[in-house]
Amino acid sequence: MANKSEWHHLYQRAAWRRLRAHQLAVQPLCEFCLISEEVTAAEVVDHRKPHKGDLELFYDPSNLQSLCAPCHNGHKQRIERGSKAVVIGVDGYPIEIG
Ligand SMILES: [Zn+2]
Repeated sequence: MANKSEWHHLYQRAAWRRLRAHQLAVQPLCEFCLISEEVTAAEVVDHRKPHKGDLELFYDPSNLQSLCAPCHNGHKQRIERGSKAVVIGVDGYPIEIG
């Protein structure tokens, strides 16, 4: 498995900056918050599937989602640790994400 420091430079690339700006233009709201009908401005463009340096996953627009910082730091890190994150849906039932 590639070390994070080996692919972290990808985020400096102009192509990523354009893709990130595009994603935030298409979806300016946090997608996790939207599940519970909360409207929060997204600040982070996150990879749904961890790319771990895989350029196809890294640059795949369908692998991107817009998140607010609290969702990115909270839910997403739980998912990456292998547990499911749960948000409460509009109907009051929990929805598993990730
Ligand atoms: Zn959020």
